[in-house]
Order: sequence, then C-alpha cells, then structure tokens
Amino acid sequence: MTTFYNKSPKTLLNKGTGFLAGYSHSLNPYTGCSFGCSYCYVRQMPVSIFRDEKWGTWVDIKKEAAAIFQKELKRAKAKGPVTIFMSSSTDPYQPIEHKEQVTRSLLEVMVNDPPDFVFVQTRSPLVRRDIDLFRQLGDKVRISVTVETDREDIRKHFSPGAPPINARLKTLQLLADAGIPTQATIAPMLPSSEAFPQLLKSLVNRVCVDDYFMGDGSGGKRTRQLGILALYQQIGLEEWYHPDAYRRVYDRLKEVFSEEQIYVSQQGFEP
Ligand code: SF4
Repeated sequence: MTTFYNKSPKTLLNKGTGFLAGYSHSLNPYTGCSFGCSYCYVRQMPVSIFRDEKWGTWVDIKKEAAAIFQKELKRAKAKGPVTIFMSSSTDPYQPIEHKEQVTRSLLEVMVNDPPDFVFVQTRSPLVRRDIDLFRQLGDKVRISVTVETDREDIRKHFSPGAPPINARLKTLQLLADAGIPTQATIAPMLPSSEAFPQLLKSLVNRVCVDDYFMGDGSGGKRTRQLGILALYQQIGLEEWYHPDAYRRVYDRLKEVFSEEQIYVSQQGFEP
C-alpha cells in the first residue's frame, strides 16, 4: 500500500553532484518510490530518513510541476548547457504516473524547449507511453531501463514491488523498435542466468552493468548497512555479493556484445 501526498515544490531542478557530476541537473517528478526495492539506498538519504514512514510506502506527487520546470529550464539554459538526469532518487514512472502524468508534463516542456540532453532512468513499462515525446527529442534523450537480472524468482526476492522482468524486456524492445536511444541497465547486478546476455542482445545494442560496490556512491558501504548480504544468504547465492562478481556478467556480455557496447558503472550513466 502506498500513501500519496500532494506537494507544491518551489523548485524541481537540482544540481548534478557525486555520481551524477557529469550532469548539470537532476530532476525528480516524485519524492519517494512505491517500488521499494530492498537494495535501494535512497532509504538512507535525507529524503527518507526524516520521514516516519517506511521507504516504499509513500510518494509525494509534485503538483503543477511543469509550470515551475518550464521557468527553471529557461533560466538554466540561459546560463549554459543543460544536461538532465531523471531521476536520481525515485523512478519517474511510478504507478501513479498513469494518472498524474507529472513526468509526461515535464517531458512535454522539454520537447518544446529541449535541454542539451536528458537521461531517463526507469524500471517501469509505463515509459513506453511516452515514446511519442522521446521521438521528438531525437538524440537528445536516452532511455535506460533497469533489468538487474533475467530471473523472475530473483527479481521477486530482491524487489517484489517492482515490475516483472518480462514487461521490462518487452519495453526495451518497443523503445528500440521505435528508434529511441535505449540502454539495458543491469544495476544493481543480481544473480542471472547464462542466457541473459543473449536475451538482451536481441533487444538492444547498448548495455550497462553496475553493482553495489561501484555504484552506490560509497564503495558498497551504504548497501552493506541495508543488510543485503542476508538476502543472498537466504537463497545460497552469496558468491554474487562480491566486488568481483560483476566480472562474471561482464565476461558473459562480452561473448555477445562488442566492448564498445558494454558500459561499466558510471560510464553507462554519463550524458
Ligand atoms: S525503483 Fe529505484 S528509487 Fe525506487 S525503490 Fe527501486 S531502486 Fe529505489
């Protein structure tokens, strides 16, 4: 169950920092996330720790965001190149986005006044709804769809509230078929089958692999504090929770993708 709150923020664009230092800005249409993945370190960040409610059970909806964003974008563009990462601490395609269309309204602003680049990071099949807008953004957009594993049992174990893997794979195919710059993002890398790279190869020509140790912004410390190791132990797959484990997937990817098509950690998220 997710509790929704209507909010009227004064600003939407934040400065790109840390892992996103390659971006001028980050953009979050919502605060909170109803997917509530077990490994999500956002739950330890100020946005979550000052709330009484558990991460994954609440979402703030940024009402009338487009009008504010339109002004901010114009001001930012007057100062220099604008590259936007959407989103850094939520998924921009929350289930409530079906109804609220906050993300869509922000994309419409970008279609009318394009930034230099926008990277859309999601795990939701709902992203396919906005293919018409992505088409208009041309090469100024890249859609990155998280597919941490090809194993639905593993997905259910680590992120039971997130969309099924098959729906995400289908979404990648629809985006790629529509000619939208698309990336399959194996992040955080979870235990997967040997056939996973071949499955992706039939859908996309760009993949990124990342893990907790490279990608959580703290060398794996934030994730360790979440007690994620226990989840691996429960299913007897703790060898996958290791700084070298990503090599297993990387080497498998290399059998079907060229090295130029495989991005590792931060490289895969750069503008
Ligand atoms: S979808 Fe992303 S922001 Fe949402 S809980 Fe999962 S990892 Fe965190």
